Amino acid sequence: MEPIPLETVIVDQEIVKELQCGICLQIINKPRQCLQGHLYCLDCISQYLKKSQECPTCRTSLNVEKLSRSLFVERHLRNLNVWCKYHFENKGGGNNNVWEVDEQGCNEILTMENSTRHENTCEYSFEPCKLSSDCGLIRKIQLVDHLEKCPKRPIKCDHCLIEYPFSDIDKHLLECEMIEIQCDKCNTKLLKRDFETHKLNECPNCHVHCPFFDSGCLKMFDRKNLQEHIDKSLGEHLILMKNNYTQSISSLKKDFNQQLKEKDDQIKKLEKVLNDKHEPDTKIEWCVKNYSIAKKKGYIQSEKFVLGGFQWFLGFYTDGDSADSKGYISIYLFLDTHQIPKGKSLALEYYLKFFNHRDPSQSVKKEFRTTFPIKGGRGWGDRKAVKSALLDSSGFIKDDTLLVKAEINVKKTCWSIDQEPDT
Ligand SMILES: [Zn+2]
Ligand SMILES: [Zn+2]
Ligand SMILES: [Zn+2]
Ligand SMILES: [Zn+2]
Ligand SMILES: [Zn+2]
Ligand SMILES: [Zn+2]
Ligand SMILES: [Zn+2]
Repeated sequence: MEPIPLETVIVDQEIVKELQCGICLQIINKPRQCLQGHLYCLDCISQYLKKSQECPTCRTSLNVEKLSRSLFVERHLRNLNVWCKYHFENKGGGNNNVWEVDEQGCNEILTMENSTRHENTCEYSFEPCKLSSDCGLIRKIQLVDHLEKCPKRPIKCDHCLIEYPFSDIDKHLLECEMIEIQCDKCNTKLLKRDFETHKLNECPNCHVHCPFFDSGCLKMFDRKNLQEHIDKSLGEHLILMKNNYTQSISSLKKDFNQQLKEKDDQIKKLEKVLNDKHEPDTKIEWCVKNYSIAKKKGYIQSEKFVLGGFQWFLGFYTDGDSADSKGYISIYLFLDTHQIPKGKSLALEYYLKFFNHRDPSQSVKKEFRTTFPIKGGRGWGDRKAVKSALLDSSGFIKDDTLLVKAEINVKKTCWSIDQEPDT
């Protein structure tokens, strides 16, 4: 807010014109005069003389040295009667410098000289309301009165004992949860905050569903009559529950079977993908060196090899593997049974051949077709593949080495999650 202009506070407004500065037209501040007695503020005339060397009123030649004080005017100014500035009130709303006499204001008349001392302690001076900036400035003398009536003064709610600004208390009373109200159904008096719970769980006159609603009893009662209904309808409720239960189970079963079928289809698809994978053929040439010594052990076994994810080996008995095959070579393809993946089986076509070095067309070739793993056994072959004596002569042995050839084709790889029943 701008300071109040000197012109406003001067009591005798007739004097104002006589004490005006000829340049700024306000009451003279630090008066200086020309030789003809024309009066100006010191600042105003000093500024003016920088551009022009004459009095702006009478045009008499003038410079700063020729200016003189006027003790008369100075004394006159000091003793000038002025209103205390709190005689007025700014009506401009902050920015406009519009001042009007306020009937509520200070009525002291002072001399200019001692006005400041009075104004510093004047009880009509303004102070802000400490409760709210919305109240604006309040005269000191009215402050106590204002605080008692201030719209923002704190006031305690009688129900919850919390303080609210006076202007908000009506709104609060509409919302206060600690106000006592009466239930419209049973006339019980209770706090507003407990009303919801009362209606939901306690009020004897509230209309409620039978607790077996979920099971299909759709009846409604005043809460006070509920127990009677439950006591009377025990059998009815049991039947409802049973039907409900049966329905749930059957729909669960349906869902479960549906899911099972979907999983089954997925597994079948996966099986097909796996089964369609082609296994390359395996060819084996097995040199049995130092045959004349090896055959005395009665059984000769090849190195192990891997095929279709399984481990295999060949083996033959040089004098049969049982009484009725005595005198024959019994030869087999064996599955190394330690490492059979569950649910996997291989359909094989293969031959085992004793190679004749002298005349390959005289080689002994045995062909087989079977599925591994073999039920109740490890290997599949021929227990009377060839007479033992024939191998010892006729060109099968060269440099005491017997050559066994084999070719194994995987016709099909099968996966199944079915567990074979234990037998
Ligand atoms: Zn001036
Ligand atoms: Zn002059
Ligand atoms: Zn005053
Ligand atoms: Zn206030
Ligand atoms: Zn309250
Ligand atoms: Zn009630
Ligand atoms: Zn019921």
